[in-house]
Amino acid sequence: MSDITLPPRLRDLEPVRSIRTPASLHYNYTAGAATSRFLRAVAEKRLVGQRCPVCQKVYVPPRGSCPTDGVPTEEEVELGHTGTVTSFCIVNVPFMSNLMEIPYVSALILLDHSDLPIMHLIQEVPYDQVHMGMRVEAVWVPDDEIGPTLESIRYFRPNGEPDAPFETYKDNV
Ligand SMILES: [Zn+2]
Repeated sequence: MSDITLPPRLRDLEPVRSIRTPASLHYNYTAGAATSRFLRAVAEKRLVGQRCPVCQKVYVPPRGSCPTDGVPTEEEVELGHTGTVTSFCIVNVPFMSNLMEIPYVSALILLDHSDLPIMHLIQEVPYDQVHMGMRVEAVWVPDDEIGPTLESIRYFRPNGEPDAPFETYKDNV
């Protein structure tokens, strides 16, 4: 057994249980050809997906190929700015650098004519009224702030249409 003898000044101090080490990571994201086309369309206030020639699914944002069939998805499909909430989460936990006032709702939204939901915020409705099947529309930032990023959509809000039948989004819950 070793017995480390500490200098008298240190011997009576509390043991160190934790330390803070602020750290940050900086990323350069390379979008690739398919996502670049998608983001350039967003900068024109358009939402464009790509259809798989085999399974006919429309992917948004497109990655350039179908993960199921392994073939390029070259046909571009113009999507509307409306969609259906397929799933959602009420965020009640504040976290560092989050500017949102809690509680708020983050949801999976299946844009009309697409087959893969995107994640975005739901606003302009009390959080406890958000539900599966709710029809929503995109609210864009002012035109002079629109750029090649999904942040060009500020959030989605209910558009007043009746709820979508479960059958129409059951594969994307
Ligand atoms: Zn496919």
